[in-house]
Amino acid sequence: MYHDLPRAARFWSFLFAIDKDLAEKTRTNACPCGGRLHCANYLRKPRGTLLQLPELQRLRLSFCCDREGCRKRVTPPSVRFLGPKVYLGAIVILISAMRQGPTPRRVRALSARFGVDRRTIARWQVFWREHFPQTPFWKVARALVPLAEIVTLPYSLVDAFLCRHRRCRGWTLLLRFLSPITVPGALRIEVSR
Ligand SMILES: [Zn+2]
Repeated sequence: MYHDLPRAARFWSFLFAIDKDLAEKTRTNACPCGGRLHCANYLRKPRGTLLQLPELQRLRLSFCCDREGCRKRVTPPSVRFLGPKVYLGAIVILISAMRQGPTPRRVRALSARFGVDRRTIARWQVFWREHFPQTPFWKVARALVPLAEIVTLPYSLVDAFLCRHRRCRGWTLLLRFLSPITVPGALRIEVSR
């Protein structure tokens, strides 16, 4: 089943290449004010890979507008970082999914391997079950994955993407699909009054 990530360091460098692509698109779109975007990457300390990622791959790619009076930070979507979470997005998804999937017993082994404690996993589950379904992203995106049941998020998502593709491709497509929520502010929930 889907109880693991592609192992190779190649997987992470491949995701980094996709992030560079996404960043380039953001850069060419320029700042909403019309200003030019300059590179303003920042270093993160992602947890959850067994291999030490090279410094370059720990960078969150980001930009800053060069126009005086704006100077807005513009951060592109990412397939590596899930918003401000410390763990890499793929790890957050995998471990949360396994908690609901057919192999909950594997969670202990997985969390030990990636160094995630129970409380963190519980927080992630609240995120998937209660927060994520309320986001503007999911309200639109759920039509694209009709099989993904809210009660079993994110397992239903992993299942929807990995049942049709090989592991590396399935993970890449899933992370790409979720990338719009990795932009700062994208997880804000609109409260209707
Ligand atoms: Zn600007």
